[in-house]
Amino acid sequence: MTLAPDRLERFARHIVLPEVGGAGQVALSTAHVVLIGCGGIGSPALQYLAAAGIGELTLVDDDRIDASNLQRQTIFAEADIGRPKAEVAAQWVERFDRSLKVRAHVGRVGGDNLAPVLEGAHLVLDGCDNFATRLAVSDACVAAGVPLTSAAIGRFQGQVANFAGHLPGESCYRCFVGDAFDAEDCDSCAADGVLGAMAGMVGAFAAMQAIRVLLEGRATLGDPQWGKLHLVEGFVPSLRTMRIAKDPACKGCLKAGAVD
Ligand SMILES: [Zn+2]
Repeated sequence: MTLAPDRLERFARHIVLPEVGGAGQVALSTAHVVLIGCGGIGSPALQYLAAAGIGELTLVDDDRIDASNLQRQTIFAEADIGRPKAEVAAQWVERFDRSLKVRAHVGRVGGDNLAPVLEGAHLVLDGCDNFATRLAVSDACVAAGVPLTSAAIGRFQGQVANFAGHLPGESCYRCFVGDAFDAEDCDSCAADGVLGAMAGMVGAFAAMQAIRVLLEGRATLGDPQWGKLHLVEGFVPSLRTMRIAKDPACKGCLKAGAVD
């Protein structure tokens, strides 16, 4: 596959990077990413994924836009208040780049309805706002063999990691957090607050890590750094990285037969 002249021009600053190149840009243009959550993380992540020319995007969110979202969810405007986030996000993509395929999924995902949403996906980027959905998404990714970029923020902190629990020796999101968060009563963003620019930093970081996964085997930037959790501190700026080991008792990995 080659890129048309208008696409070569649009992505010239990627293609000139030896770490991406033409082959890398083609890989991005044929990739399908499922974005879980079009909020604080999903919004900036989507802007950079779409700008990177990710060929196909599925946008999942069950929420509607609220005035209090506008402080950090940068693709939404006042006129969008009350409308479904996934739909408005899809319209943003359509306006931004007509060549990208985009689909909105308005509704909550979990359990049985996840597998069809993940079908054909090369990567899932999860920036949703609750642990129950995150764990369900992680389990579905491990079962379907789809890599997961997981990103979260709170107050002045963020965390970003790439998981490939379906691979031998690699951890999943459930290996990291355990089973305690399956309940839906531990979501604290509204009560704790979050600085808007942190969502931008962490969402853009998540897009960067997702692009690494999509370029694996296609360009030298393609080092997915599986199981490395990056902790972003914004109050006194710093970045720490830790390795998440595979949990031999992890329910998600065991169920998928992905424990050695
Ligand atoms: Zn696991």
